[in-house]
Amino acid sequence: MNCDNDIFITVEQALIRMTQAIQPRLQVEEIPLEQALGRILAETIRSPINVPAYDNSAMDGYALNLSNAAAQSRFDVVSQILAGKPDDTQLKEGQCARIMTGGKIPQGCDAVVMQENTNIVTDDVIELTTNVAHGANIRRSGDDIRLGDTVLESARSLTPIDIGCLASLGLQTVKVYQKITIGLFTTGDELAQPGAPLLPGQIYDSNRPMLKALLAKAGFNIVDLGAIDDELEKITQALDFLAHRCDAIITCGGVSVGVADYTGQAFASLAEIDFWKVAMKPGKPFAFGRLKKDSRCVYFFGLPGNPVSAAVTYELLAQPMLKYLSGVDQGQRTHLKLPTEQAIKKRPGRKDFQRGVLVKDSNGVPMAVVPFAKQSSGVLSELSQADCLIVLEKERGAVAKGEHVLVMPLTKANL
Ligand code: AMP
Ligand code: MG
Repeated sequence: MNCDNDIFITVEQALIRMTQAIQPRLQVEEIPLEQALGRILAETIRSPINVPAYDNSAMDGYALNLSNAAAQSRFDVVSQILAGKPDDTQLKEGQCARIMTGGKIPQGCDAVVMQENTNIVTDDVIELTTNVAHGANIRRSGDDIRLGDTVLESARSLTPIDIGCLASLGLQTVKVYQKITIGLFTTGDELAQPGAPLLPGQIYDSNRPMLKALLAKAGFNIVDLGAIDDELEKITQALDFLAHRCDAIITCGGVSVGVADYTGQAFASLAEIDFWKVAMKPGKPFAFGRLKKDSRCVYFFGLPGNPVSAAVTYELLAQPMLKYLSGVDQGQRTHLKLPTEQAIKKRPGRKDFQRGVLVKDSNGVPMAVVPFAKQSSGVLSELSQADCLIVLEKERGAVAKGEHVLVMPLTKANL
């Protein structure tokens, strides 16, 4: 057991240490494309076809054998081509075919004129009202994706648009990494479950439903053991039970130095664990451990009990590691640099993640940020109102009104 109890480490150091300790789980399964939303791609996809597969019209109009024709030229309409209904028309000079968007370009066609740029002379004759360039309004085979092109790299979390792209290649199944399973419980004699009456000295267990929802949103399988009393024996049993069934375990509460803080002790009795004071606010106490089970490792993340600390340490420390464990390549998080509309109190020494809201102009463009007045790690309602975290560097002191600060938007929806 490693006890770094009196040593602060930075958020970045904590992430590096955990990344070094974690071996990603990369078991592959093949699943229907329609069930692949949010799953992690386990193969690099190269296109088996040209997309589109054939030259087709980008407009409703007329497919022309243009030759040297210009405005005022007249064309005989010799056929009609609808999307999905190709025909073997061969256009000769002075001929055209009525064509709909997506219709297959007939032989002898060198441009499409949009309907709006023509006059109907008779039932079978049209006249151009503008000049038409060679190749106009023709979507060429392979314009979107060429046969053999890399379409998506592995380790990517599949979005709805990715699923559309893969469907455009005709793929019906896709290889992804198997979902990882996360064990979860909260600890505390003071915890009552929502729905039960609140007895003196109790608070509702807000963290377990919150963490469960965060894990579900990230697409993990969950084994939820509920809330467990502050008893070493019960906590040890719960950890042992989960270690047999899960790839990682998340607990909340009981990782600091209070007399009833048993979670860390219980894990230490089973495995290797690091207790860290992470130089962050909210946060600070955080435990990370590894437990060897059979031929694999189970990873343990002990979050602090204060609700905002639990949410923020999950988001910034545990969740990136769970994603890494599940095989996803995450890239950089988007940050903005904005002036603060209010002064912010801070002392150098810890990296602060303050809750705030973005001030946007009439187009929705963020112009500034307003920190909330209350920044207590127990006030979850403010985190629920926040649409961003204001990231204040470890060495930074007080921030004056108008100074620029780093802002991490909290995205609630995405394409
Ligand atoms: P701990 O980390 O166990 O020392 O808890 C720190 C603070 O967070 C205490 O005020 C606890 O009552 C509170 N707390 C711990 N677990 C939860 C939970 N699951 N839901 C809400 N508050 C909690
Ligand atoms: Mg506790």
